[in-house]
Amino acid sequence: MSDEEGDDGRASKKRKASRACDRCNLQHQPCDNATPKCSVCDRAGTECTYNRPVRKRGPRTGYTAQYGERLWGLVLQANPAIEDMILRTLATSTYRDTGIMNADYFRNNDNQAELVSYFTESRLGRFVQTGDLPDIRGPSASSVVVLAAQ
Ligand SMILES: [Zn+2]
Ligand SMILES: [Zn+2]
Repeated sequence: MSDEEGDDGRASKKRKASRACDRCNLQHQPCDNATPKCSVCDRAGTECTYNRPVRKRGPRTGYTAQYGERLWGLVLQANPAIEDMILRTLATSTYRDTGIMNADYFRNNDNQAELVSYFTESRLGRFVQTGDLPDIRGPSASSVVVLAAQ
């Protein structure tokens, strides 16, 4: 108890992060973790259980912004010329047939869902999500050559 007094802000946060019982978790209510039953279960007259799986720390499976940034960090270091290519794309051409400059299209939060889903469905996006490299010897290899030639 006494060691909680020093930084009670942090201590109470830690306290809050402690696991709620299954019923409280399901009902999104604070659990006092009383034993053998928390007060909520006690009042409800139900069993107080902690059977749900512990959620793992760290990113969940699937796309996260950090994965995207991790990829950018890697790609820009491995191939710095890509940065110029992308910046030029942002500054000098428009998005599809919208007539909107790419950089402006990017800045508009209304377009976020569209752009993110285009990425997550791309082969790169799938790699980021699954860690599995696609087979790049297929027909798409030619477009890689075109990009490199620009
Ligand atoms: Zn509870
Ligand atoms: Zn309970």
